[in-house]
Amino acid sequence: MAHNSKWRALSVRQLRTRRAQLVRQLPDLQATLYGAVQRQMRQCGRPGCRCAAGERHGPYLYLAVRMGRRTGLLYIPAEAADTVQQHVETTGRIEAALADISAINLELFARGALD
Ligand SMILES: [Zn+2]
Repeated sequence: MAHNSKWRALSVRQLRTRRAQLVRQLPDLQATLYGAVQRQMRQCGRPGCRCAAGERHGPYLYLAVRMGRRTGLLYIPAEAADTVQQHVETTGRIEAALADISAINLELFARGALD
């Protein structure tokens, strides 16, 4: 991973303060869900349905999740859409915070100040 110059300009004390802030601002770890929300239009396959002429149904929401080597699509019912979307976004914010904390620790390590 690249050594980020944004942290190099800060003192050890400032780095530790920033790291503590990142930890304090971490979202609720219980509200996490790996995956990506996708919108898809679908054909139902019924003969004579309007979707056969190209006017597809939807959009329907799906959660794309890694299942081993494959990606699975799980249907998201409308009543769960907001919660699923929020969990996916929260996971992204937590991952960004972890990446920053790790980069700060790498900088502290490089200065012999990792505690
Ligand atoms: Zn149809």
